[in-house]
Amino acid sequence: MAGRTSTIKRDKTPKEENPFDVARKQLDEVASLMELEKPVYELLKKPMKELHFTIPVKMDSGTTEVFDGYRVQYNSALGPTKGGIRFHPGETVDTIRALAAWMTWKCALLDLPYGGAKGGVVCNPQDMSDAELDRLSRGYIRELSSFIGPNKDIPAPDVNTNQEIIASMMDEFSKLKDYSCPGVITGKPVSVGGSIGRDDATARGGMYVLRNFAQKAGSSLQDATVAIQGYGNVGSHAHRLIEDMFGAKVVALGDAEGAIYSGNGLSYEQISGSMENPGVFSKEVEGTELLGYGNEGNEKLLELPVDILVPAAIENVITEENADEIEADVILELANGPITPEADHILKDSGTLIIPDFLANAGGVTVSYFEWVQNQTGYYWDVETVHERLDKKMTAAFNEVYEMSADRDLTYRQAAYVVAVKRVVEAIKFRNWV
Ligand code: NAD
Repeated sequence: MAGRTSTIKRDKTPKEENPFDVARKQLDEVASLMELEKPVYELLKKPMKELHFTIPVKMDSGTTEVFDGYRVQYNSALGPTKGGIRFHPGETVDTIRALAAWMTWKCALLDLPYGGAKGGVVCNPQDMSDAELDRLSRGYIRELSSFIGPNKDIPAPDVNTNQEIIASMMDEFSKLKDYSCPGVITGKPVSVGGSIGRDDATARGGMYVLRNFAQKAGSSLQDATVAIQGYGNVGSHAHRLIEDMFGAKVVALGDAEGAIYSGNGLSYEQISGSMENPGVFSKEVEGTELLGYGNEGNEKLLELPVDILVPAAIENVITEENADEIEADVILELANGPITPEADHILKDSGTLIIPDFLANAGGVTVSYFEWVQNQTGYYWDVETVHERLDKKMTAAFNEVYEMSADRDLTYRQAAYVVAVKRVVEAIKFRNWV
């Protein structure tokens, strides 16, 4: 593969978009492609159930603060609902609705026996002590305890909810039931029922998809240049696996603080070894070029002439305002919703190939499903089994998307939607809901 050439330029801040409007627009497009009947569309265009509640938390200072919490169960036609919990000061119910909708399509596409859900709490975890976070996590689960369960709705970690928080949530639910209940939530530490292989599952699943895509395209990934935006769980594992599995060259990396570039490649060993130091992506280091601080650097990273661009940070980073500046041949969406629908059309017209989020980043929920299966059966797998079964699931989903795209001349995103929505609609019909 060879990236198109251009120079780095411009400094723009992406426009804010309501993520639920984005999710709706995507569904509208697929509804007309599939000629969905009106009642089915009416059922799919909004969440089936939502719980909005308050969580009073005793703070270390002795005062009580009241936090807003949400859980959205978007659609349960395929089984109990599944989706993460976010702790974020800017959390909105519309963000949660959008993510719950995307979980519905993602689980359906991967043929998991799950519907989609998402939850969140409006809070700033950076300003809270570990003890306060523990009380908040337990309070969240107490309010939700009759709404969730291993056969009802199974939460997981998401933004700012780490495995310690997930372990507290599982423990609180188990105390309320008076027996150990690991299957109520996934993303647990291995010692309390988590699955081996969950840590890099999202990035690894994306790599299996990328490998399959390159095989179909007859391209070698060994010579590819790659830019990755975001260096958290997903972005950092993607960096390692892109090097390990394909020997490709990661030339640009960024996080919230800034972005760096090196035409010779940024090695995983070098970068991961310096992550203990603050500001790795906002400093001039010998052999690397600082693209810029914060959004400025990230905007430049997105516009680099690389073969593969991997957004692995946040939503709405490629909009109609910067889509025409994107030079990458392929975009592997490891983040959720990084490209707005308007930008999607611009990129389609310019011939950029997009491997959509709910296929590319489905490895996480797939291994979460494996974790739940292991919890339900009480029999735990080794890492080879997890990788092999993940590959099988990702490859099956990729093949379905690839074939649907070829048969009906659709983009991969449209094809993925059609495969997923068809599955949900079939279940709705068999259940006689419509
Ligand atoms: P994380 O919190 O571990 O890391 C996020 C990274 O993005 C950090 O490096 C942060 O500095 C960076 N970032 C934040 N704002 C940024 C900005 N404006 N510009 C550039 N970088 C910015 O999160 P994660 O778990 O790695 O998730 C990343 C994305 O992948 C999210 O969209 C998430 O929803 C999606 N995702 C994650 C998983 C998973 O298993 N963790 C599964 C599916 C999808």
